[in-house]
Amino acid sequence: MNDITIALSKGRIFEDTAPLLKAAGIIALDDPESSRKLILSTNRENVRLIIVRASDVPTYVQYGAADLGIAGKDVLQEHGGAELYQPLDLNIACCRMMVAVPEGFDYDSAVRQGARLRIATKYVQTAREHFADKGVHVDLIKLYGSMELAPLVGLADAIVDLVSSGNTLKANHLKAVEEIMPISARLIINQAALKLKRNTIQAILDAFSTAIKK
Ligand code: ATP
Ligand code: MG
Repeated sequence: MNDITIALSKGRIFEDTAPLLKAAGIIALDDPESSRKLILSTNRENVRLIIVRASDVPTYVQYGAADLGIAGKDVLQEHGGAELYQPLDLNIACCRMMVAVPEGFDYDSAVRQGARLRIATKYVQTAREHFADKGVHVDLIKLYGSMELAPLVGLADAIVDLVSSGNTLKANHLKAVEEIMPISARLIINQAALKLKRNTIQAILDAFSTAIKK
């Protein structure tokens, strides 16, 4: 059996991945929410989990520090996904990447009139592509979190952010006006690892595919 390192982020990705790992016969020996360990052993001697920031998962896999990883499409889109093999949509951590504006703002007419929009977002690359495709001129303002605040204090006209229930938007008097893309988490694999550890990785891949909720 080859040694396998899997990169995950804690929070919803870990929670939604645990059942898939279990289906592959892999159970973490520590809970990342309560443990401070960044390397978690599992019941399988040859498999370990590393706990990293969600946006760092592709980087660990790209450089081969992890063989496999689980990352949201939002994160992969920003990273570019170069050199990563992405065989499986895991259909977990689902939400939508949306454009949102203050409740009183007429987005459609601003777009129709060719207004230049200021957009605050963590997802600068994805937003740039989206508005370029639409032919809308934008100034992008990079933020690292709490995007909902930006339009409320005059930093931006609109935001690009992930939306699931819409409750956070509502609580801040914002409305979603456009979907950019549906988001879910994907399995990513280092290409060299796939060649060198084919059988071990293929077994995990097969167990995941069988366990995925359609
Ligand atoms: P950090 O919290 O460390 O700044 P993050 O916000 O990217 O990073 P999480 O909030 O754990 O980390 O999100 C991880 C992934 O879960 C995201 O990349 C996205 O794919 C998905 N996700 C984020 N928000 C939601 C949501 N509201 N509903 C469902 N999935 C989401
Ligand atoms: Mg978060």
